[in-house]
Amino acid sequence: MSPVPRIACIVSDTLVDVQPPLPAVSHVSRTLADLRSSSPHTPTFVSVPAGGDPCASIFLHSPNARLVSLTASASPKLVSYLVPHLAELSDSPVVLHLSVSDDLSDVLLLRSAVPYFLLSSSAQQAHDNALLASRLARVERKLIVHAYNPSLSDSSLEEVPEDKIRQFLVGVPPNGAANGVNGHASTDEASSVAHQLYKFYEAAALATLSLVRRPFRPLVSHSSPNPHTVVFLSSSQELNITLDGVSFVSATLLNPLPPTRILHAIPASVSRVVVLEQIHRWSFKWTPLYLDVVSALQEREIEQRPTVHMGVLGSIDSITDIQVQKMLQSVAAEVAPPHLQLGTISGGEKAPSVPPHIPKHETSYTKILSHVFNDRLEISNSPSLVSSQGEIATSPEFALGRVRGQLDERDELISAVHKLLQSKGVDADLHSLLANWLLSKDDPVKSKTLGDTIVKALRQSPIPDPFAARILDLHSHLPSLSRWIIGSDAWSYDLGASGLHHAIASGLNVNVLIIDTLPYSARNTNDPSRRKHDVGLYAMNHGDVYVASVAVYSSYSQVLQSLIEADRFSGPSVVLAYLPYETESSALDVLKETKVAVDAGYWPLYRWDPSKEREGKEPFTLDSDAVKNDLQAFLDRQNHLSQLVRFKPQFASELVSSLGESVREARKRKAQQSYNEMLSALDAPPLLVLYASDGGAAEKLAKRLANRGTARGLSTTVATLDSSSIEALAQEEGYVAFVTSVAGQGEPPQNGRTFFKALNAAVARGDQPLKKLRYTVFGMGDSHYWPRPEDAQYYNKPGKDLDARLEKLGAERIASLGLGDDQDADGPQTGYKVWEPLLWKSLGVDAVEVTEAEPEPITNEHIKAASRYLRGTILEGLEDTSTGAIPASDTQLTKFHGIYQQDDRDIRDERQVQGVEPAYSFMIRVRMPGGVCKPEQWLQMDQIADEHGSGTFKITTRQTFQFHGVIKRHLKPAIQDINRVLLDTLAACGDVNRNVTCASIPTLSRLHQEVYQFAKSVSEHLIPRTTAYHEIWLDKKMVAGDALKDFEPLYGEFYLPRKFKIAVAVPPSNDVDVFANDLGFIAIIENGRLKGFNVAIGGGMGVTHGNKKTYPRIGDIIGFCTVEQGKYVAEQVMLVQRDNGNRVDRKNARLKYTIDRMGLDVYKAEVEKRLGYSLAPARQFTFDRNIDDFGWAVGEDGRHHFMLFIENGRVQDEPGRNFKTGLREIAKVHKGTFRLTTNQHLCVSDIDPEDLPLIKRLLSQYKLDNLEFSGLRLASSACVAFPTCGLAMAESERYLPILVDKVEAICEENGLRNDAIVMRMTGCPNGCARPYVAEVAFVGKAPGTYSMLLGGGYYGQRMNKIYRETVTEPEILAILKPMIKRYALERLEGEKFGDFTIRAGYISPTISGMGWYDGMGGEGIHKEIL
Ligand code: SF4
Repeated sequence: MSPVPRIACIVSDTLVDVQPPLPAVSHVSRTLADLRSSSPHTPTFVSVPAGGDPCASIFLHSPNARLVSLTASASPKLVSYLVPHLAELSDSPVVLHLSVSDDLSDVLLLRSAVPYFLLSSSAQQAHDNALLASRLARVERKLIVHAYNPSLSDSSLEEVPEDKIRQFLVGVPPNGAANGVNGHASTDEASSVAHQLYKFYEAAALATLSLVRRPFRPLVSHSSPNPHTVVFLSSSQELNITLDGVSFVSATLLNPLPPTRILHAIPASVSRVVVLEQIHRWSFKWTPLYLDVVSALQEREIEQRPTVHMGVLGSIDSITDIQVQKMLQSVAAEVAPPHLQLGTISGGEKAPSVPPHIPKHETSYTKILSHVFNDRLEISNSPSLVSSQGEIATSPEFALGRVRGQLDERDELISAVHKLLQSKGVDADLHSLLANWLLSKDDPVKSKTLGDTIVKALRQSPIPDPFAARILDLHSHLPSLSRWIIGSDAWSYDLGASGLHHAIASGLNVNVLIIDTLPYSARNTNDPSRRKHDVGLYAMNHGDVYVASVAVYSSYSQVLQSLIEADRFSGPSVVLAYLPYETESSALDVLKETKVAVDAGYWPLYRWDPSKEREGKEPFTLDSDAVKNDLQAFLDRQNHLSQLVRFKPQFASELVSSLGESVREARKRKAQQSYNEMLSALDAPPLLVLYASDGGAAEKLAKRLANRGTARGLSTTVATLDSSSIEALAQEEGYVAFVTSVAGQGEPPQNGRTFFKALNAAVARGDQPLKKLRYTVFGMGDSHYWPRPEDAQYYNKPGKDLDARLEKLGAERIASLGLGDDQDADGPQTGYKVWEPLLWKSLGVDAVEVTEAEPEPITNEHIKAASRYLRGTILEGLEDTSTGAIPASDTQLTKFHGIYQQDDRDIRDERQVQGVEPAYSFMIRVRMPGGVCKPEQWLQMDQIADEHGSGTFKITTRQTFQFHGVIKRHLKPAIQDINRVLLDTLAACGDVNRNVTCASIPTLSRLHQEVYQFAKSVSEHLIPRTTAYHEIWLDKKMVAGDALKDFEPLYGEFYLPRKFKIAVAVPPSNDVDVFANDLGFIAIIENGRLKGFNVAIGGGMGVTHGNKKTYPRIGDIIGFCTVEQGKYVAEQVMLVQRDNGNRVDRKNARLKYTIDRMGLDVYKAEVEKRLGYSLAPARQFTFDRNIDDFGWAVGEDGRHHFMLFIENGRVQDEPGRNFKTGLREIAKVHKGTFRLTTNQHLCVSDIDPEDLPLIKRLLSQYKLDNLEFSGLRLASSACVAFPTCGLAMAESERYLPILVDKVEAICEENGLRNDAIVMRMTGCPNGCARPYVAEVAFVGKAPGTYSMLLGGGYYGQRMNKIYRETVTEPEILAILKPMIKRYALERLEGEKFGDFTIRAGYISPTISGMGWYDGMGGEGIHKEIL
């Protein structure tokens, strides 16, 4: 990469970068991003879109800046922007770094209009000249143009380190005397001005020489002794040729270039001078350097003057010594050729226009347009027109002209039809056709069908009428087309010049789609001086214009609705479409940016339809949910306040005055007040404990510390780190103890990030505001979490940073930094026990005897017991409209009701910045044993997603429906709607038996009925009996009523220690991954009849990263039971766990740990003792797969089933894949059932043969029958993770498809397209998508970082284990590429990938859960070096 962007980033106060056209990426942005991570000094960055005018930004920043740099590619358009402003800028400290190729025609137009023009012809020279130019501009406050060729590279490039560059430039004062010298003066003055400028150049060159240790010369000469010829070159590349008698002179300073320097380069021995310049398109007769050379030679006596020839220099790469010799010979000939040329000139012939590149994301909108309007779609500035019409074809003016012409022609056609109708030669049929067409000419369908018939009729029976002939001429206008002009947001900067105003004001029936790509996160870096007009507002003000603001990654259906309404609107329509991206990066980034922009109200979704006003309806519709909710909350509050004021008028002034105050300020004051009260009441040093915690461990520790401080007589306060500020701490009189854990890749936890940002900013400013503060820090982390040496810095990073930065800010450390490590013998407590006494000692309370027992921390067990059988204060929490959340303890209880409180993590930071609470919403999970539902139930789920949720829903790994994004006031209606179709959500989550899953086996209808009924009966048998669910959600009568008491015969008031999962499998398919469950029933079929079940116990997936006391485990088979015994066996297995599970440590509470602690035999014996009989010996069975059987199958009862692929279970409509709509349409006509699978796919089942054609047609219409996916994709599975899951550490559902795209390509390269490799991903080690039994799995550790696991069994019979502890995508691909290749070449007949990785020696097999960590990190040469 060229060194120029780096230098520009380091030396400038403001850096204006004109972006390259997509898909190219700006080097400057990338360099700046790198610099930001390593240096506290970065410039103000202004990004100008490709083709934009940077001058306003330069003007805005140059008056106060010490240096403004522009980085851009030299183009005619840029030159046309710059030229008018050069005179004004000539006395400003500005460097224009313009990148050039092998044609300097554009950039040299600037040469005479600027004080300095530098040209670099090597990477090293570009580096040195960039420094020289910056120094010169800064010291002399002059405008400098520096042209360089960015494609030149130099492996031996010597770059000056950043600190030296800063020393070289910072602190050098501007030279005031230089002011007033510019490049525009009278001739005499001009020569002295040029002389003066040259002296400045020499001074700057000398200073730069001392830095880089390389000389600077305006003309660099490769001399031959006593040359007869001098070749002057002005070129962006070096010409390395040596010829006897020829001296080559390259110009690096093109302005001011003193004649003396030129003459110096032409010794008296020279008889011939050739000036070659890389100017391929030059409209003047003489080229610039040629004129300089000729004019310099005027100072010599005529007889001493050599002859001077002018020529064009082409690409230097192709020039050989022989070519140079030939050229010089031709010059020496008696009659020299009039046009000299050396080297080839590319682009001599005008390249044919190629359609412009359309960034891949933007096709999302064009695809929808084609999908909605099909052959009616007419894009009037389509890139496809470029090849025939030239580049102008994409401009709005061209498009508008085209539409105008087409509409004029259509008017003419209408008039011709009118005329022909009056003609006598028209028969009755044609007459009727023409009349009908006139009536339906704007109807999208009829206008085409009638038009086609008219054309056919006129061609078959020609009428000798000129209007008939005219109709045939204009027949392409018979159908009513949907005309669209598509443009970018660059059009909104200048409404007049872009033609947008003309479209809006035209009154024509034309639709304009403007795609705005500015990411929300980059909105502030956009040039504020380039004012983007609010096109929507402008168009609405105009009156009769349809306007919509849409965002495809926020609401697909709203986009569809808007496009259809825009098309229907008779007049101009403007649809503003949001699609934020900077590069052709992943759709995930676009999605996140869109969500934040829509949520923050930056990009509201709305529609304005003036035609509704004419019908007396409201023309404006606000479609943004978030904005709508905020608006609703605001209106509610307003209403509430006005009622209050009416009721108690004396409140009015208080209310009104308090409205303007920041809530945060008020809270702070209150806190300060109570703090002061405490200070005066207690005669002991105050201790403030501030914590930052994501998972709760640091919070728990901080609260415990505060309690222990109180017990020692200290007045303690405990709060989150973000509730404090640097300013507040600057006033702190007492002691502050900080406790922090680590989030993600060494980042501070969420509730400490704002404080950390402020801390970093204060350090960067070099202030010392915390001189009064006395502090100590305790950090909690896991040294094993980042095992690679290069990642070791992330261990306990926030704690270490906090400690070091507080000291930098002047604070006094009272006890040295304490570090708690999960890997220590006693976990973080080991470090804590050392640190805490130091704190007490420094506070002088170490000798205080503590007699009071420490209050016990509140655990889930307490919450359950105090909940009155899962009631808690859920009802009260639902009624509290002041927050979107429910109380913290209730969030534990709602899980038992199938409800999880979540917040949108994509927009969490942004909302915090805005000072509003997180965007709380709830996930609702349905209990649906066996995953079977009826069509009417499906339709209800579809509707619930639209009315109460996020518009989509998910088929989960527990074979049920899950809705996300349900806000608090929609919770109850949603649950009631679920109940209306006889489903519920009770016990779908929580410490109870969860949804019982069951094999989907499409082919065995009778057997499926039996196992399904069994799964249902087990679920019903183990359901909690509390009536709280009915009271809270279904408004049933209170059972408690202070008289009656609830009773839980199975669970008791403490319920289970942890969740409990049951699955029923039917061999040979293990689609439910039966061994991953606490309890598994494996159907034993003999002679086609269900005989009973083998019973497996002790499976479970959840793990905590780095905590070796936690591990995944697969179930052990303990015997056989009959169908009738099954539910009682389930009951007793669960009850032994209820009574023996670990209730002290939730991380060790699952059945798998209980079994390993008690011993499998003891556990089994206890179950049998409670049952009163022994289980029979286990029977034979065989599994051969755990993936779904995709495609059609016919059951033994003759009914049909189709297993379709829904990637990661997300049921939604997307461009080109309207799966949600398709399944809704199927549900409307389907008479059978739907079976959800634990692999998150769907079986449309029990289709009667007579309904088969209809279902097939619908499947095909909505592309639901497409199974043309690779084996890898069909076998892949991911959990939800971001943005809704509160435990997610990395992406999963949104990222796995992207990773599969890349791994799939590797499989295809190796001929493995159809081979299934079971690949799973989860966003955290909780393992919802059962990653630990996949052949290859990725478990999220931090954004973009995963643990990679290998060696699982193909049908879930063996666990994998960690192969690499931390990998990112490039590492994943680098690992898998050779591994998959080897697998393709070396696998044995039928050998599966997981088995191969073990046989090939990559990883050892996992024998047991407790041995899961043995052999992690790979085997032999594949072992990860830790
Ligand atoms: S595995 Fe973790 S990230 Fe994924 S859904 Fe489950 S809890 Fe959330």
